[in-house]
Amino acid sequence: MGKGTKLIHSGHEVDEATGAVSAPIYQSVIFAQPDVDTVGKWEYTRAGNPTRAVLEETIAELEGGKYGFAFGSGMAAIAAAFFIFSAGDHILVAQDIYGGTFRFVHRLLPRFGFKVEFVDTSDINNIKNAIRPETRALFLETPSNPLMKITDLRAAANLAREHNIVTIADNTLMTPYLQRPLELGIDIVVHSATKYLGGHSDCLAGLVVTGKERLAKEIRFIQNSIGAVLAPHDCWLILRGIKTLKVRMEQQQQTAVLLAEWLSGQPEVVEVFYPGLPGHPGRELHFSQAEGAGGVLSFRLQNQEQARRLINSLHLPVIASSLGAVESIVSLPATMSHAAIPEETRRKLGLTRELVRLSVGLEDFEDLQADLTQALEVARLSQD
Ligand SMILES: *Cc1c(COP(=O)(O)O)cnc(C)c1O
Repeated sequence: MGKGTKLIHSGHEVDEATGAVSAPIYQSVIFAQPDVDTVGKWEYTRAGNPTRAVLEETIAELEGGKYGFAFGSGMAAIAAAFFIFSAGDHILVAQDIYGGTFRFVHRLLPRFGFKVEFVDTSDINNIKNAIRPETRALFLETPSNPLMKITDLRAAANLAREHNIVTIADNTLMTPYLQRPLELGIDIVVHSATKYLGGHSDCLAGLVVTGKERLAKEIRFIQNSIGAVLAPHDCWLILRGIKTLKVRMEQQQQTAVLLAEWLSGQPEVVEVFYPGLPGHPGRELHFSQAEGAGGVLSFRLQNQEQARRLINSLHLPVIASSLGAVESIVSLPATMSHAAIPEETRRKLGLTRELVRLSVGLEDFEDLQADLTQALEVARLSQD
């Protein structure tokens, strides 16, 4: 089956009981037992719910895994993946990750005795050099955002396997439509389904997928123990979003490519970060493991004031800390999505205040281009 067909026909065809084509929303916490000794397939919604099961099977199939798990947010999904490990375990984490993930691993995990170390995973030698006998996990995000650094998923997975290290990849930016880390040897994929999978900025959700039974058992236990599960109606919203992922992603990516090329030629723009651009250092590697550059790009203006003026002058993109939605979204990562990263670390990473992130929506290219043109003009005048 092709990728587009899979989005429509994974996980669920029609409801067995009624023939309903849209997965029924089982808005029930409890499922009655026939008698005191017999437990049916469904018991209590924290442990399992039929609507959630459809979403979990769907994402497992799309990612090329076997077991899917739905959570109340991307952060809850990421937390569940880390709770597989224990006090004393050494955890390697990519340097350039989502701000909320940074906050979780940097400020919360050490309280439970995790030894967290950040590495620039875009060079496989850095991972190699950081591995210790007690290293248990490697957490990756590629392309990273907003700086779009690329990590070699195959090489990282191979290296980790030699050392019995579990690999986790955040695939939010690409979605299984463009990149399937499990097929490249990664053990666990996590998602903020809030972004492209849901696609409409109306539902907070997270997903975990693995193909390994041992890991799936752990995650199922953690999901039921912590209880941060996705509600049945929200599962339905994500299922609905997934059905249109192909047309949204294709269109948004097409516009993103045009905007990235055009922005690269604008005098006010110092640098554009987008793996689809010919000069991008990780371009070849990226296209060896993904089937497109996606719909998010970032660019650097000459200074902080210009970046602020540009963002405040745009009419079409909403100013918000998110991505992957039908509407374009613009942000200043340093003070918004990545504000949880300390200033000094941000400066080292190049996550500075003149860096603007744009998640390209479904508006027409010409309209976004015209809007950016007038906003760049305002930014330029602010400098004179
Ligand atoms: C948004 C995001 C998250 C967190 O997801 P929530 O649904 O907001 O909890 C994690 N990783 C990436 C890459 C994200 O963009």
